[in-house]
Amino acid sequence: MSRPLLMIPGPVEVDESVLAAVGQPPLGHTSLAFIDIFGACLDSLREAFCAPDGQPIVAAGSGTLAMELAVANVIEPGERAIVVDTGYFSRRMADVLTRHGAAVEIASAPAGDCPALEQVESALQTGAKVLAITHVDTSTGVLAPVAELAALARQYDALTLVDGVCALGGEEFEMEKWDVDICLTTSQKALAVPAGIAIVVARPRAIEAFNSRRHPVASYYCDWGLWLPVMRAYQARKPSYFATPPTNLIVGLNESVRQILSQGLETRWARHRKLGASMRAAMRALGLKLVPVRSNLIADTLTTVYYPNGIDDALVGRIGQHGVVIAGGLHPDIKGRYFRVGHMGIVSDAEIRQTVAAIEAALKDAGYPVEAGSSVAAAQAAYKQAR
Ligand code: PMP
Repeated sequence: MSRPLLMIPGPVEVDESVLAAVGQPPLGHTSLAFIDIFGACLDSLREAFCAPDGQPIVAAGSGTLAMELAVANVIEPGERAIVVDTGYFSRRMADVLTRHGAAVEIASAPAGDCPALEQVESALQTGAKVLAITHVDTSTGVLAPVAELAALARQYDALTLVDGVCALGGEEFEMEKWDVDICLTTSQKALAVPAGIAIVVARPRAIEAFNSRRHPVASYYCDWGLWLPVMRAYQARKPSYFATPPTNLIVGLNESVRQILSQGLETRWARHRKLGASMRAAMRALGLKLVPVRSNLIADTLTTVYYPNGIDDALVGRIGQHGVVIAGGLHPDIKGRYFRVGHMGIVSDAEIRQTVAAIEAALKDAGYPVEAGSSVAAAQAAYKQAR
């Protein structure tokens, strides 16, 4: 039986060349061969984040570990942090900040929306160490205006912390130009590598905040004091050790990021815009409504769609029967009322059409009236037109 197409918002499909890289016999973490690969990988991550002055920190773990690897080092007990609420993962960031002692204020918004800049500004006016933003909240498909929010944070002297888990490598992001201080991601999303690598990039203001801490970092594994010398050693192509890096996965990450950079970031972002436009046009052709409440809030890495009247979350399983794996809802306020389709990494326009055809067929099976082939045609036309 043929393998189903994986169209959830992470883990995502992985290119065969990357899988082959991951599948090579393990290298020792202090071997010359691995030092070269890890050093090159750290250099290219700096490029992929558009952060020439950034320090990447790469460790075994998932995106949640990356969140902690960022927060634990820049927040001290009692310091204020503001969280821009765009869904489930922004609230997770609030939990991580709280766990590390921050006094958290949530600039909240209903599911599908993002708090207004004025709302965030009035929270910043009372002072904060950190403004936390989820670039794309995977629970709602909402894209936050990171550049504008980061400019506000700078105005009020707060560090900008961006969760780029569902964005980095798919959505436009210029860490240095937008003056973001810390950005984190993980391997299994738009970087298109299997799960298991936590990635943080910290720019000078964040490193300075770490260096001037009054309290020790509460987590041993997350302490930048233990990681920074190791990362700097690999960058200088020298052996070093704190905790074993996921060597096979890093070989794969190096290969995937090398491919992304050789395509060019602009090309990569433009392809994701086309994939997003294609999927949205298809959903519109089916008469379905998206979760984000305004067009400027819609991410291109995933599409979040309300079930039409009379259809429930059994649709996800029906779509699976047509060979495509998608995800159900996650935001607690609307869970059970919508589905999510990931289209980041190496997804092709043909795979978007395959997914759309499966959704159309599943809706038909469920008794929803569809005009056969109309959504696939809409997907194809929109892909051609989008820039
Ligand atoms: N942040 C965002 C935006 C995410 O989408 C996810 C995972 N879907 C996480 C954080 C947590 O990542 P992980 O599941 O890899 O721990």
